[in-house]
Order: sequence, then structure tokens, then C-alpha cells
Amino acid sequence: MKVIIMAGGMGTRIQSVRADVPKPMIEICGKPILQYQIENLKACGLTDITIGVGHLGHVIKEYFGDGSKFGVNISYFTEDHPLGTAGALFKMLDGRACADVQTKTVIDDDFLLLCGDVIFDIDFNRFIAFHKEHKAWASLMAHPNGHPYDSSLLVTEVLPPETVGGLPVSTHRVTKWMSKEDERTYYKNLVNAGLQILSPELLRETLKTFVPRHPETPDKIDLDRDVLKPGIMTGKIFAYETPEYIKDMGTPDRYYETEADIKSGKVHARNLSQKQKAIFLDRDGTINKANGFITKPEQFVLIPGVAEVIKKINKSGYLAIVVTNQPVIARGDCTFEELAEIHAKMETELGKDGAFIDGLYFCPHHTDKGFLGERPEYKCDCDCRKPKKGLFEMAAKDFNIDFAQSYMIGDSLKDVEAGKNAGCKECFLIKDGESILDVVNKII
Ligand SMILES: [Zn+2]
Repeated sequence: MKVIIMAGGMGTRIQSVRADVPKPMIEICGKPILQYQIENLKACGLTDITIGVGHLGHVIKEYFGDGSKFGVNISYFTEDHPLGTAGALFKMLDGRACADVQTKTVIDDDFLLLCGDVIFDIDFNRFIAFHKEHKAWASLMAHPNGHPYDSSLLVTEVLPPETVGGLPVSTHRVTKWMSKEDERTYYKNLVNAGLQILSPELLRETLKTFVPRHPETPDKIDLDRDVLKPGIMTGKIFAYETPEYIKDMGTPDRYYETEADIKSGKVHARNLSQKQKAIFLDRDGTINKANGFITKPEQFVLIPGVAEVIKKINKSGYLAIVVTNQPVIARGDCTFEELAEIHAKMETELGKDGAFIDGLYFCPHHTDKGFLGERPEYKCDCDCRKPKKGLFEMAAKDFNIDFAQSYMIGDSLKDVEAGKNAGCKECFLIKDGESILDVVNKII
């Protein structure tokens, strides 16, 4: 698969770090950001790279040349006049390159599009496999972040359970793109990370619809506004959720944080080709105040200080994963949609304090039958209700988790037993008078 890296940005906000080089050439731990990207791509077998250069582009060309020193093939293009974040792609589409963009690159197949000022370490082959499996026109890399309240959020499709007594199914199809300005109450923390695989079909479709709408600026095209957002209508845009390390170098603060993460090994350790370590958390009584059965968002209240603790987990090398028994579904007290709304409130409230969870798994089942209003199809002896280990196994499959390096924290003996059944290194019971912070402090 071809890779196109947009490396023409000016980087005005990070000029206090380095002002005389383009942003992708800013060094972290002695190496330019762009070099980290190229090494990651090469490790995934992606060696056909085109770089779009702009301001101070000669610095990039002199350093990387034709790529042979780095084991890849690199070609370049320059925009004669600004074409927006995606305009240049259309100049390369089906070999229609013209004087505006001098390039030999032709887009006639799916390609990976990256931004040159982001530090990441990603298992791209997993991402490409997802893209192919969904026959997507675009696959957007998406993740939770520490400031969802001022980020554009993606909403994905969830279908009713396919099997009797099963769980709702996420198709990963993007159904909505919520901008910062859009009204929103509770939402899942799912942010577009700005790395994507695009197909020429999506570009061709965009040309049909975009150019007629903007005849005055037919070649200035914005990726988000003109390509991806309207593309959602096709039903062929998908979100690939990953907890891998992705951070843009927008501000000096983020620069220094990333530098520390590279030094500690966290950036590379998060690559999903490697085993991950997690801290599993129970929900009721651990994250939120235990308040009988919680069936409405209003009843869900975070325990004071929990967001700070989860933020601490987020900054460590551990994934934060919630595993919770929710027999409210089997009891008929709460629908899957209502439970999703409760979880959206949890993510929204945590997000306000800069914290996020990487994953959430719940068991909707319960065994005791014969109550008014219950959903008999969920009254069964399942494999996922804690103390069984089913929820942990679902997480392990999604995140490549190594239980021997992972922990469980909960407020009941069922939690401890479940963590042990899964093979966690240690399981902690939050005792009376103790807080989750006391426990997390024992781990990190
Ligand atoms: Zn279950």
C-alpha cells in the first residue's frame, strides 16, 4: 500500500522548541519526527512513500533523499499554491497530475494518508486488515483522548444482538461526525486521530459532489470538511479504534511529554503487535457510587477523585479497561440503549477531567428466573458474568493483553475471583475506608 505523508505544515505553535526547521523535522531524542514515522512504516513493510513538502521543504529533501538510506523509496511533491489539506490528493488521482503539483505519484488504489508532525507507533498491518475486511472507502484511526469536550467526535453504528441472549454488535461504521460546536450531552470518547486509509473511489465521489458546489475554488479541498464528513452518507466510512500511541506535536507541552514517553519506552510498548498490560476496573462501587441498580444516567455519579486516578493510569503504560456485571438488562430494568447512555455519561464525566477508558465490557446476563418484566433470553448461565473470566477474554482479544502483567481492582470478592480466573498478576479488593487511589498507588 502506498503512503502519502503531508509534511508541509508551518508549526507556528511549537516555534519555541525549534523555529528554523519544518515541524516534521523537529528532533525528539535526537531524531526527527518524520524519521520515527518512516521507521515505523518500514517495519510494517510499507516502503512506497510520497511526502508533500512546503515551507522549508528542502530541509526534508536533503535529509531523506530518495529514502534508500532508510530502506524505503521516497518521492516528493510541492504545492504551487495552497490546495487545502486534501487538494493535492485530487491532483494525483488517476494520474491527472498537473502543473500545480509536480509529482509522479498516481493514486489508483487504496493508500495510507498521514500527517508529518505526529509521533506514533502503530501496527499498520492490523489497520490495513481492518480496512480490507470492511471494504471501506475510508478507515479512520480513532481513539479516546484527554480532551473530548473540545475534539471532533465520531459516532459509530451499533446493531441489536445477532444471537439470542447476545450482545449488541458494533459495525464500526461511522454514522455521525460531531464537531466541537455541535450540541452534545453524553457521548462516547471516540476522537478522529487524523491517520486514515482512503480509497480512490471516495476521492472520485467527492469530485462529483464537491467541485460543483465550489466552482470558484475547485482545487482547494479540505479533508475533513469536504471529503470525510460528507462521505459518511455513503455508509462506507469506518472507525478503527486503537489505544496505540498517537500524539501530534502541536504545543511545547506535548513535545516534552512525548519526549518522556519515548525515553520510557511507552510509545513503542503500545504498538498492538506487542502484548499489552492493563488495569481492569469494576464499575459500580469502584468508579461510580454504588447506588442500588443503576438504570438511568441521573443515578450514575462518579466517586470523587476517580477521574484523577484513571488519568494516572492513562499516563502510565497500562490500559484502563472496565469490566462490569449489568444484570439490569436481564431484569428488564434497562435497555441496551439506556445502558449505553449511562456509559456515555461515564466517559463524558471522566473526559471533563482529562481521563478516559480504553475499553468497556459488560455482562447483561443473570441466572435467577421468574421475575416480572425480565428478559428471559438473558436469564442464563453465561460465560461472561464475573467471577467468570469471559469479559477479560473479550478484552484480551481486542487489545492483545498479557494477564500476567495486568491487574484487577474491584469492590467485591466476585471481582477478585474473576481477575484470578483470568490469570491477572494481582487482584485488589477496595476495602472500607480505602480509595481506588490507594490501590492504584500500589501498582504504579
Ligand atoms: Zn454474561
